[in-house]
Amino acid sequence: MAVEQTFLMVKPDGVQRGLIGEIVSRFEQKGFKLINAKLIQVPRELAESHYAELSDKPFFGELVDFITSSPVFGMIWEGENVITTARAMMGATNPSAAAPGTIRNDFAISVGMNIIHGSDSPENAKREIDLWFGGETLSYDKAINKWI
Ligand code: UDP
Repeated sequence: MAVEQTFLMVKPDGVQRGLIGEIVSRFEQKGFKLINAKLIQVPRELAESHYAELSDKPFFGELVDFITSSPVFGMIWEGENVITTARAMMGATNPSAAAPGTIRNDFAISVGMNIIHGSDSPENAKREIDLWFGGETLSYDKAINKWI
């Protein structure tokens, strides 16, 4: 299995509700490695670029309004199969369809405020890491990795 990197973001609802720590904790406890993070008030242009693939959807304007309404917490995580595994830990886009134990099922009700974003493919992970962090990641060893 390949070691991958993915971009995750605690959305404004997650930040406002004090869920940054809970969410970081889940990925730390899983065994993934945090290799960059920042709290950011998102400029409109960045939100539009991030969600460019959805620009023809009827909810696009509301989505951009929401993402720019209050700070988000962006992160880059690294680990084996982290892109797919993080998506599984997040749960389905609509929290009412998300499996119990997933972040969206545990903490959210509405599709518009579903707490977390995660890259959905290696191509989008690279694009989003470049977009949000200029591709900047930290390389370091965790002694515990041999046990994970
Ligand atoms: N979204 C929405 N209404 C919809 C579908 C999606 O507000 O009917 C929002 C939702 O917050 C979602 C985001 O748009 O997380 C991006 O949609 P996507 O299909 O990429 O889902 P995700 O990858 O976030 O699960």
